[in-house]
Amino acid sequence: MNKEQQLAKPKLKEYEPIIGRSALEELKILADKLSNKKILNINSTYIGGGVAEILARMVPFLNELGIETKWSVIKGDNEFFNITKKFHNALHGKKEEFKDIEFEYFLEINKKNSEEMDFSGDIIFIHDPQPVALIKKRNEVGEKWLWRCHIDVSMPDEKVWNFIKEYVEKYDAAVFSAPNFAKMLQIRMFLVYPSIDPLSNKNKEISKESINAVLDKYGIDRKKPIILQVSRFDYLKDPIGVIKAFEMVRKAMPCQLILAGGTATDDPESDKVLEEVRELADKNPDIHVLLLPPDSDIEINALQRAADVVVQKSIKEGFGLTVTEALWKGKPVVASAVGGILLQVKHKITGMLCHSIEGAAYAIRTLLTNPEYSKWLGQNGHAHVKENFLITRHLKDYLLLFLSQYYRDELIYL
Ligand code: UDP
Repeated sequence: MNKEQQLAKPKLKEYEPIIGRSALEELKILADKLSNKKILNINSTYIGGGVAEILARMVPFLNELGIETKWSVIKGDNEFFNITKKFHNALHGKKEEFKDIEFEYFLEINKKNSEEMDFSGDIIFIHDPQPVALIKKRNEVGEKWLWRCHIDVSMPDEKVWNFIKEYVEKYDAAVFSAPNFAKMLQIRMFLVYPSIDPLSNKNKEISKESINAVLDKYGIDRKKPIILQVSRFDYLKDPIGVIKAFEMVRKAMPCQLILAGGTATDDPESDKVLEEVRELADKNPDIHVLLLPPDSDIEINALQRAADVVVQKSIKEGFGLTVTEALWKGKPVVASAVGGILLQVKHKITGMLCHSIEGAAYAIRTLLTNPEYSKWLGQNGHAHVKENFLITRHLKDYLLLFLSQYYRDELIYL
C-alpha cells in the first residue's frame, strides 16, 4: 500500500456526521479496555475481494483507536492457491475431487508460513480457510486465537469441511457472517454481519453532475423511470427473471431496465448467461445491459443513486451487499426472500419481498406508481442499514468480540 492510498483512507472522525458522536465515543470506550492488547490479522491477500477490503479499513481504525494492530498475509505458490480455491468451492458445496497430496501440500505451506512469519500479538485473528492451520502455533504465540469465516459453509463438501474443522476447533472462537452460513462447532461461536463503508467510492455521496455523466456515458434516458439490478451475470441472480418482470411492468407504464454487472473469471457459465440476456435485451431498446469492468465503484454508485427502483431477484443469495448498498442510498428495493436479503428487507417496511416473476412485477409497479410510499420505504431502509450494516458497527462488533475473550469469566463470577 503506498503513502497516497494510506492518506486517502477516511479517519473515524469523518464518520461522525453519519453515525453521531455517541457511537464514536462508544468505540473509544470499548477500545480503551483493549489498549494493552496487540492484534495480528492474517489472511491470504492484501488486495482483491471483500476480506481484504474490510481489513484495509479495520486495521487503520483499530490503530487509530489506540490498539496496536497488524495485518500479515500468508505466502503460497500457484499450487497452494489452486488448492485453496478448490477448498473454497467445495466449502460452498461444489463437487471437487481431491488427492491426499493436496491436503498435505496445504499443511506444508501453512507450516512453512508459521515458521517464516513474524508472529507477534495477543489476539491472533485468522481470516478464512487458507491460513487456518497456523493454529498449530498457538502454544508458542498469542493469548487468544480467533477464526473468522467470511464464507457460507452451511452445505459444505464433508471431506473438506472435516479437514478444516479439525483445525477450527482448536481456536478459542469462530466468527460467522450470518446464522445460515454457519456450522455447529464445539468452540464458542459469534455472529458478525457484513457491512458497507458509507465513505467508499461505491457508497459515498456524489453530485448530480457525476450521476448524470454516468447515465450519459451509457446512453440512458434521464427522464424515464429506471429499474436497476446490479449483479454478476449468474443464473442465481436471475437476470432473465428480471427482464420478464420488467416486460410486465412496461406494459402498464413507460420505464427502462438496467442490468449492470461483470462476468466472473472463476465462473465459466457467466458468458452464457450474458449472451442469453443480451439476446433478450436486443429486442427491447428500453433494456440496457452494461458489462462493467472490475473497479466500477463510482459507476455502480451513480446507477444506484439514479435508479427509481432497485431489484435483486436472486434465486439464491449470500448476504446480498447490493441490497445493502441500495437501501443505504434510500432506494425502494424489490428483492427475493432468500439468504441474507431477509435480514435486510422487512416486507413493506424497508422494501418489498417477492417470490416470483409476477410478484416482482407487481412490487415494481406498486413502487413506481407510489412515490411517497417508495420514499418512506427507502428512508426506513436507510435507517436499517445505518443501525445494522455499516462498517462502524462491524468495528464495534470486533471490539466486543475481542473483549469477550477476556471478560467472559469475570462476568460469570460477578
Ligand atoms: N459488484 C461489482 N461489480 C459487478 C457486480 C457487483 O463491483 O459487476 C459489487 C456489488 O456492488 C456488491 C458486490 O459486488 O458490492 C456483490 O456482492 P453481493 O453480496 O451482492 O453478491 P455476490 O456477487 O457476492 O454474490
